[in-house]
Amino acid sequence: MLKGKTAVITGAARGIGLACAQRFIQEGAAVLLSDIDSAAGESAAEQLRAAGGDAVYRDCDVTDADAVQALIDFAASHFGRIDTVIANAGIVHSADILDLAVEDFDRVLAVNLRGVFLTGQRAAKRMVTQQPDADGGKGVIINMSSINAVVAIPGIAPYVVAKGGVNQWTKCLALRLAAEGVRVNAIGPGSINTEMFHAIADNPQKLREVLSRTPMQRPGEPDEVAKVAVFLAGDYASYMTGQTVYPDGGRLGLNYVVPVKE
Ligand code: NAP
Repeated sequence: MLKGKTAVITGAARGIGLACAQRFIQEGAAVLLSDIDSAAGESAAEQLRAAGGDAVYRDCDVTDADAVQALIDFAASHFGRIDTVIANAGIVHSADILDLAVEDFDRVLAVNLRGVFLTGQRAAKRMVTQQPDADGGKGVIINMSSINAVVAIPGIAPYVVAKGGVNQWTKCLALRLAAEGVRVNAIGPGSINTEMFHAIADNPQKLREVLSRTPMQRPGEPDEVAKVAVFLAGDYASYMTGQTVYPDGGRLGLNYVVPVKE
């Protein structure tokens, strides 16, 4: 589905970002993985190459404007063209709002919102200069949002606020680029089986709480998010821009809490 396409993915050393890299490669794309965890990122790219994939790794802290610009410049010269950018890097911080330190609020906003802005803006500037591809598009930007852009958990308020911002940023960038052949969409996963999820649902009581809000009665797998990214990156999503798609096991549609199986 993505044969001959190229993709840049932030926060790709593990979790959803890595699953997107794996799935994009499976679908025929060449992928530039980036992260702040050099060892894990290099090792992930190495494993993808060993399995026959076209993968390369570069460090990039998405809060650093120069680093994001360098990443986009490297991708453009390495691939010749950037078809898809996935602004995926994100962190979470748990604290009662009344005790929340301003430094922690700023830190989460810097990665989850400023980072998504920087990645999208720098990618967009490059994409608008590219020739349209065979499908007539100049590029696709995908932002990793969350169901927490819509529903809220007060114990992770900076994360919730940032993801709400990601949805609005997605619309702003999409509207700005709609007539220029660049599509911009977001994915808002529910609870997905990654280290980030385990940090939240690390005890049986917490997991029970999460599942009581999950009609499909299980967390999602990272690849179930990656497959949505493949759809948004490809021509089947050719008339979609400014949207957030929610692979959430039914959570956003839930009104009453469902009984949890023992
Ligand atoms: P994850 O397993 O924690 O992976 C996130 C990756 O991003 C890590 O490799 C992390 O590196 C990296 N990272 C952290 N700060 C960075 C920075 N400043 N610049 C570049 N990379 C950075 O998380 P995940 O669960 O895969 O989440 C990926 C995205 O999906 C996030 O935006 C998250 O909010 C979103 N999401 C996740 C879930 C879920 O349930 N898992 C649900 C909804 C949305 P370190 O390991 O060194 O920190």
